[in-house]
Amino acid sequence: MTTAKPCSHLDRLLKLETVLVIDSHVNVTNAFMRCTYCGSAYLLEMVDCTARTSLFRVSRVDQDALQHTARAIHQGSCDVNRSRAEIQHLANAAEELDPLILMQDGCFTKLVERPDNLPGAHLGWRELPCTGALIAAVT
Ligand SMILES: [Zn+2]
Repeated sequence: MTTAKPCSHLDRLLKLETVLVIDSHVNVTNAFMRCTYCGSAYLLEMVDCTARTSLFRVSRVDQDALQHTARAIHQGSCDVNRSRAEIQHLANAAEELDPLILMQDGCFTKLVERPDNLPGAHLGWRELPCTGALIAAVT
């Protein structure tokens, strides 16, 4: 398993701003985010949720590539299929990090250790059980 670490700000402050929302349910479930301090870019993918808490897998994304894609999509300069392809390309190139991020009541609260029973990468949250079992394992 990868030992890649997020930027130090993420650990202490969890100051993330949304760059591009890919999917959402009640709260965001899949999105590209950016550290507001150093600009490090991340892909967050929800792996479990309960009524008030969501758990996200975190991967590091190339900052410039994300910037470029986000600009193109916001300007509407690419069609829907092209947007989807660009997002998929970014997601495929993302480097998965060790810790997961916990969100409570819509706010990112802390980094938690990867649970042993974490499902494999690239399964969308709609294909996951989302029973709260993973959250229970890390909190
Ligand atoms: Zn940072």
